[in-house]
Amino acid sequence: MSEDSNAAVRDVVIVGSGVAGLSAAVYAARADLEPLVLEGPEPGGQLTLTTDVENYLGFPEGVGGMELIQRGKEQAERFGAEFRHGTVEGAGLEDRPFELEFANGDAVRTRALIVATGASARWVGADGEDELMGYGVSTCATCDGAFHRGDDVLVIGGGDSAMEEALFLAKFADSVTVVHRRNELRASEVMARRARDHEKIAFRWNAELLEIHGSRDDGVTGATLVSHPDGHPTGKLEASAAPRVANEVEREAVDVGGIFYGVGHVPNTGFLENTPVELADSGHLETLEGMTTETAVPGVFGAGDVMDPDYRQAVTSAGTGSMAALDAEAWLESQFGYSGSRTLAEPTAQ
Ligand SMILES: Cc1cc2nc3c(=O)[nH]c(=O)nc-3n(C[C@H](O)[C@H](O)[C@H](O)COP(=O)(O)OP(=O)(O)OC[C@H]3O[C@@H](n4cnc5c(N)ncnc54)[C@H](O)[C@@H]3O)c2cc1C
Repeated sequence: MSEDSNAAVRDVVIVGSGVAGLSAAVYAARADLEPLVLEGPEPGGQLTLTTDVENYLGFPEGVGGMELIQRGKEQAERFGAEFRHGTVEGAGLEDRPFELEFANGDAVRTRALIVATGASARWVGADGEDELMGYGVSTCATCDGAFHRGDDVLVIGGGDSAMEEALFLAKFADSVTVVHRRNELRASEVMARRARDHEKIAFRWNAELLEIHGSRDDGVTGATLVSHPDGHPTGKLEASAAPRVANEVEREAVDVGGIFYGVGHVPNTGFLENTPVELADSGHLETLEGMTTETAVPGVFGAGDVMDPDYRQAVTSAGTGSMAALDAEAWLESQFGYSGSRTLAEPTAQ
């Protein structure tokens, strides 16, 4: 057992410090539960990747993603939430209290657990995406589409999420070009038809994004696309490919003002894989039916993008974060007859 395992058992540990984790932390801290927030590999979460958030309630002029997160953290700390660096690598959820393990062997123990680990959007690996993500490259049309009124934009991908992004963007952009590495879509027929029938949406088949042009000051100004009649062109440019095949790959520079990735999200639930918590085929944390954040394991709650494959917004994540803290508080009350460490008597159950 590691050193931390001998330390006091927490009432609530929140895994993740994005909007959902912070909102849960504010509520749990205000309920005197003195939550511990484990910040994970991306302290502050996805919002730290974006410059302007225009759709979060209460900021009529918009707010920077980093600022919103910083304010949320200060708010949670003000009520007594504690933050700790560290990424959870494994979870013991079969025995009580629950135990969370870190890579270095440390562990923390907790009676209630809120999982708010988000979902990471897949990136495509184009040159320039590290620099320009949040500066004209986006993984969220609902969030950033309105910044591209009158632009020509690209959507990368061929599944339902790419079609959704394209249809949403067509409300704002002058033109939307879907770039797909094969010559047929993976999307459901109904979504594919809607996109194909839209007058503003065009398709580049057997094509991929190789490079993004622009700067953080100017945003995205263009891109280099590659195409090959047999599809998957970037693979044909790899060192292992035959030089003749590589020569058949065509490059084309296009002028665009925005690039949206619609190649899916990966929920950060790897550390839950061998636990009794249920995961959907997509990897999302399953919560029980109805308006609750409870999971199949009593005392474990889910909040934010990790349990929400559909909405994926800051405000909805904050909403489910607050719900998870309220659900955890009610559960602690029902199990241990208290709510809040400051009134803590020895637990009577579990
Ligand atoms: C570029 C971009 C722009 C966006 N713009 C907007 C916008 O304008 N408006 C809007 O409403 N939404 C926007 N979104 C979506 C919004 O950011 C997400 O819906 C929101 O951040 C989800 O919050 P979350 O707390 O559930 O997850 P995340 O923000 O993903 O946070 C997850 C947290 O979990 C932690 N974590 C992950 N794995 C572990 C682990 N194993 N152990 C410990 N911690 C872990 C991470 O470090 C992180 O702190 C945008 C997203 C992106 C990527």
